[in-house]
Amino acid sequence: MRVFACPNCGAWVEFEDRVCLACDTELAYAPAIDDLLLAEGLDLCVFRDDIGCNWIADADPRSAQQCSSCRLTTRRPPVDDLAAWSQLTLTEYPKRRLVRQLNHLGLPVIRREGDSGLAFELRSPTESETVLTGHADGVITINLAEAGDARREEVRISLGEPYRTILGHLRHEIGHYYWLALVAGTPDLTRFRRLFGDDRQDYGDALDSHYGGADSESDAGAGGGDPADAPPHEDHISDYATMHPWEDFAESFAHYLHIADGLETAATVGVYIAGPSGVSAPLAGSITSSGAASIAELAMPEILARWHGFALGMNAMNRSMGEPDLYPFVITAAVAEKLDYVHTLVRGASGR
Ligand SMILES: [Zn+2]
Ligand SMILES: [Zn+2]
Repeated sequence: MRVFACPNCGAWVEFEDRVCLACDTELAYAPAIDDLLLAEGLDLCVFRDDIGCNWIADADPRSAQQCSSCRLTTRRPPVDDLAAWSQLTLTEYPKRRLVRQLNHLGLPVIRREGDSGLAFELRSPTESETVLTGHADGVITINLAEAGDARREEVRISLGEPYRTILGHLRHEIGHYYWLALVAGTPDLTRFRRLFGDDRQDYGDALDSHYGGADSESDAGAGGGDPADAPPHEDHISDYATMHPWEDFAESFAHYLHIADGLETAATVGVYIAGPSGVSAPLAGSITSSGAASIAELAMPEILARWHGFALGMNAMNRSMGEPDLYPFVITAAVAEKLDYVHTLVRGASGR
């Protein structure tokens, strides 16, 4: 994610900010220009107060004054369920980050009309109804219970995953959506099957054997085996990716988005990584010569070389704060080839 400056005073402000902490000015994000503007006089998203959405309203007269991110959410908890709405708030923040990144990468974000296109159902489980996080035919369901840190951490530990976040879930599920939109039924399916395996193998059987017949918690997103000492999978980015070629693709897609966003942030913040020999390798400006901070112009080996240094540096930083590694994954040659597949797909979809 790029960094933003307050349009009034120039102070550093974040993508999520509704108000500049330095000068108290109200801010609004305009997706078409990927920038924060002075909110005064603008048509703002109707969910600004309810869930802290800081985007401007979509100009489409059918938008009911929702922004282009909130419009993608077609199902929310009942308005009188305040606990669920606070979880909705915590989920819509990373969802806006996801939508912004998809726009930034030039991926098609087609709002659902009838039976096709993309929609999000953000739902809370009730006593009579469970909610499984997952994707089906363009509809992404997120179980809002996982917006709570305690619940998500409990699931993370029970599944032995090193990394589990709502943003990670969203990036994983959108991977399923783009598999359907960009791979299924296209000539890319041939290379897909060579790299990821045959997607025609039965998904239900794969699920059963992965969980040993136990009920699955959800379409879990970024798993990774035993975080303590299990060796990484040679051919997969995570344990969950081993389950079925669809999950392998979704996990690879999510990691592509992690890496793209991480490098964009590193470039715009201005990060230099010095290795053990003390030689400083600039990340800033090296992502693109123009400073546009898009990885679209780079080949995957260059992207991964930059990411490797950055991830090592950030892991060391987290350890210095007593936190777990920021990026607790190993990218093997087989995984790199899968990421290259995703990169080619994204570049093709964006016309780059
Ligand atoms: Zn300001
Ligand atoms: Zn909104």
